[in-house]
Amino acid sequence: MNEKRYVIAMDQGTTSSRCLLFDRQGNIRGAAQKEFPQIYPQPGWVEHDPADIWSTQISVTLEAMQKAGAHAGDIAAIGITNQRETALVWDAATGKPVYNAIVWQCRRTADRIERLRRDGLEESVRQKTGLIPDAYFSASKLEWILDNVPGLRKRAEQGELRFGTVDTWLIWNLTEGRVHATDYTNASRTMLFDIHKLQWDQELLDYFQIPSSLLPQVLPSSCLFGTTEKLGSPIPITAAAGDQQAALFGQCGFAPGDVKSTYGTGGFLLMNTGKKAVSSKRGLLTTIAASADGQVRYALEGSVFIAGAAIQWLRDELKMVTSAAQTEGICNRLEDAGGVYVVPAFVGLGAPYWEPYARGTIVGLTRGVTREHLIRAVTESLAYQTNDLLTAMQEESGLTLSSLKVDGGASANSFLMQFQADLSNLLIQRPQCIETTALGAAYLAGLASSFWKDLGEIQSNWTCERTFSPSISQERRQELLKGWKRAVRCAMAWARDED
Ligand code: ADP
Repeated sequence: MNEKRYVIAMDQGTTSSRCLLFDRQGNIRGAAQKEFPQIYPQPGWVEHDPADIWSTQISVTLEAMQKAGAHAGDIAAIGITNQRETALVWDAATGKPVYNAIVWQCRRTADRIERLRRDGLEESVRQKTGLIPDAYFSASKLEWILDNVPGLRKRAEQGELRFGTVDTWLIWNLTEGRVHATDYTNASRTMLFDIHKLQWDQELLDYFQIPSSLLPQVLPSSCLFGTTEKLGSPIPITAAAGDQQAALFGQCGFAPGDVKSTYGTGGFLLMNTGKKAVSSKRGLLTTIAASADGQVRYALEGSVFIAGAAIQWLRDELKMVTSAAQTEGICNRLEDAGGVYVVPAFVGLGAPYWEPYARGTIVGLTRGVTREHLIRAVTESLAYQTNDLLTAMQEESGLTLSSLKVDGGASANSFLMQFQADLSNLLIQRPQCIETTALGAAYLAGLASSFWKDLGEIQSNWTCERTFSPSISQERRQELLKGWKRAVRCAMAWARDED
């Protein structure tokens, strides 16, 4: 019997570093979180200081251990989950970063991606990496650093530099430069990794002029990456996974057809498609899912650009509510949205529409429409957008869902969850533990270190806090969805009808 009491999940996010300690039942026994500065050197540019990422992550880890009364000897393993795509480059000898981390949100290389399209690479990028070429992904950020910091190209060619996503940076620091590695899920977001052959793609490396000496070794998400002595006695690091993939795992999304939907500032839907990499014609991404048995599993991913952000807009710009949570009571007091639809296409529409010039649209206004109707229509828009992705995913994968597991801040809204169940005709399951990202990292680490025996043991930890069942007629569902589609067409027409 293993006498270790906890697994550590390091959750390195875009605005804060967090650490959670989980016990064998999957309960949180210690937690700490620290925000760090966002750096905006120019409009549209976003950077982090790599030293901040490391120092906040290690300090919250020590704090969480202290809160749990835990020593290094109590810890079975460490799992890392992280903001994806963010790119870092450092000196191999000193470990000193050569530039700030360029964050996934940063748009500085948007023109470069346009050039990639003109160069005719879009299709081969899609086929190899499963991604639609975009400045979000690491490749063009890494190239930018090599091109814009004087002398770096030469140093890169001489093998003096190392590249990594945030997981790689943390592992490097935890092991004091002994280990330069990443996992399949993080590698699959760089736009340099062939997700079918499971190796860095030479053609893309040549195109971006990236010497292979920069690149980390790519390992399964759940295996021994190295050992850290930064927390007292040695602790094995046995997992790394990108945040969305970790969340799918934390929701026990192990089987083909399992889906999790995250309702945060934006929305993220991931569907496990098993051993099959499903390629999408509707703008969903194909990516690698986290798995614990060393065998690669794939996922389809879709995102909603504006989800909880629309609720923030109601609160901060329209001042229609004073807190996000208020929306639930207001929505529940109404029969319906009074025929109003709000399409929050503030930054265009993503999958399955892909209309970057669409803009937010309100339709169906009549003299009787009240503030409450607008609040309800905005809240409903989170469910409509998620439903569009769910429909596209089911059609493209050929897999039919029976239930949907949810997490993220806005999943606390029971009105929204019920509306999602009604609209999508699915059972919605909201888990007890909504810290699914950290939990996923902990599970991946705990399985590789025999803290947990197998997936079955983990599955038995997953407890449902509440289930929402569909409660409207098929007729009513069709009517609602028809209205939404009309509203979306209006938002798209606005984009195209300029003169
Ligand atoms: P992120 O991880 O993206 O920062 P969170 O998962 O913490 O986001 O969720 C925060 C988002 O959820 C905010 O945009 C907020 O408006 C929304 N939100 C939080 N609580 C509710 C609620 N009860 N009803 C609707 N939206 C909510």
